[in-house]
Amino acid sequence: MLLFKNIRELTQYLGSFPQQGKSIGFVPTMGALHQGHISLIRQAAESNELVVCSIFINPTQFNQASDLEKYPKTIGNDVLLLEEAGCHVLFYPEAAEMYPEGLYAPPRNFGKLTTIYEGAFRPGHFDGVAEVVKRLFNIVQPNRAYFGLKDYQQCMVVQALVKEEKFPVDLVFCPTMREADGLAMSSRNRRLSQDDREKALIISKTLFWMKNHYSRLSIPELLKKAETELSNKLKVEYIDIVNAETLEQVTTPEQKAVALFAGWCGDVRLIDNMLLNE
Ligand code: AMP
Repeated sequence: MLLFKNIRELTQYLGSFPQQGKSIGFVPTMGALHQGHISLIRQAAESNELVVCSIFINPTQFNQASDLEKYPKTIGNDVLLLEEAGCHVLFYPEAAEMYPEGLYAPPRNFGKLTTIYEGAFRPGHFDGVAEVVKRLFNIVQPNRAYFGLKDYQQCMVVQALVKEEKFPVDLVFCPTMREADGLAMSSRNRRLSQDDREKALIISKTLFWMKNHYSRLSIPELLKKAETELSNKLKVEYIDIVNAETLEQVTTPEQKAVALFAGWCGDVRLIDNMLLNE
């Protein structure tokens, strides 16, 4: 695997691939890699001649300085995992390389998408996400880019960004990888104490329960029980059931529905979601 820290050297290297008819699959990450990230790399390796991963803890998408500071960094292990999974190129820039003119992300307006759920609880978060994805796409110019459905709303924001900026890229959304006991894999899980790790299990347990009961109970009934179960163990920011395509109210049972959750387990913020009727 080749490692680049510099944009110019990376673009020089990548430039020859499209001319040779070789496709580039791109997986943007913030590092502290786990098998969720690696599933994206493997999927990219199946469909592309070249797999590029970026590791960049993007400061403009953090709305809390302490969250940014505490974000785990495990670059040595990340490199080993990427090599094992068949990644060809790692882009690992410093913040000054990505934002030479200063750390700023202009406000974006993708309608309600950017102001509800994650957008409401993490003001400016999606502006930062959109900005870094835009910059990374301009640098890597991938044919395909891989994102995890674990960050459900982020997938929708990236989709809106690609449409607005007319990026010639195919987006591939990949299923959420879970630990054997159901907890969604996340870089933030390493910050959970043993006690909080136990408590966090209620998230996937409740989401699976909602999926199993979706055809039998009404949405208010499902949410009432879910709220009670989750609030017993965690500080819930939101738990809701919405139309999976619009993130608006579900109006008919035929609509694809998704349950969205965010909350705090100790001082670690976790998100998860589940498609309820696929
Ligand atoms: P992050 O490093 O958290 O920015 O994540 C990088 C990419 O990996 C994003 O597209 C995430 O949605 C995806 N990802 C994170 N956790 C998982 C998971 N448990 N399963 C599948 N994809 C994931």
